[in-house]
Amino acid sequence: MKLRDIYRTHIASQKTPVISFEVFPPQNSWETLDKELTILKKYNPALISVTSTSSATNCEQNKLVQNIQNTLQVSVMPHLTCMRNTRKDVEEYLTVLKDAQTDCILALRGDYPSDGTSPCTDFRYANELVEFIKSKSDISIGVAGYPEGHIESPNINEDINNLKKKLDAGADVIYTQLFYDDTKFFKYTELVRKAGITAPIISGIMPILSYKQIKKMTTLANISVPDKIAEKIELYKDDTASMHEFGIETAVNQCRSLIESGICGLHFYTLNKSYSVSKILDNIL
Ligand code: FAD
Repeated sequence: MKLRDIYRTHIASQKTPVISFEVFPPQNSWETLDKELTILKKYNPALISVTSTSSATNCEQNKLVQNIQNTLQVSVMPHLTCMRNTRKDVEEYLTVLKDAQTDCILALRGDYPSDGTSPCTDFRYANELVEFIKSKSDISIGVAGYPEGHIESPNINEDINNLKKKLDAGADVIYTQLFYDDTKFFKYTELVRKAGITAPIISGIMPILSYKQIKKMTTLANISVPDKIAEKIELYKDDTASMHEFGIETAVNQCRSLIESGICGLHFYTLNKSYSVSKILDNIL
């Protein structure tokens, strides 16, 4: 199903938000990921997205994409980055996706390789990738949005102008970076709408799982953590069980507040783990 149709169904019914998950090709146990995905499937995700990073080959990403689509029979949205693909790679991959009847793709610039390898340079920004995909295929396209502005952007308004270029080039839906301060998301949504962007904005949710994870994620992408949450993270620094429970409670509150505001989709960054996401969904659905 195309992205617009997935979210249009929600807008028509207005009952519960559309649920989607993000996973990555595992570095070791595929069997463990299969088990986690089987648990997550019970929550009827509209789609599962699969990341593209230097820690996995395109072949591993494809294996996971095919597994989700064919074995789990859930719609899948592979991520595709400018950094890892030439025009020729993209063209070939679109043919693979067409043959496999995959309906959606998440078009990203990607992060610069951390292993010192040179990135591909055919596309500089995600809007160029969106434009190229659109010229070659009718696949529906998701793009990334940043409620606190992208880390390289001088300010949020400039970042939203650049977001608009992706939508004008033919993208259908915006998936946001994870955030913990809902007020920033609400303000962002307001600014995006003011800029004339009407596409669905899907909130990115990452449950807090551990001290190391939250520190890494929020520092890398410069994501604010409200004081009340930051205090608890320090308190449970060495207490994994309490941190998990706190992470679930925080995400449940966040999802409830987002649902109340009328958002149409929740996209969970699962980190390939089902426990916290399942508990959150048990509470909110
Ligand atoms: P762009 O939209 O190209 O923006 C990058 C920067 O350039 C921004 O500061 C923007 O304001 C600016 N900019 C954009 N267009 C222009 C233009 N035309 N002219 C001048 N400036 C411009 N990374 C991975 O490597 N693999 C993944 O699988 C992955 N999945 C992700 C999923 C989601 C939902 C999100 C939110 C992020 C994901 N990322 C992933 C991270 C993402 O690749 C990085 O944040 C990257 O730095 C920016 O990607 P983008 O597509 O948002 O880039």
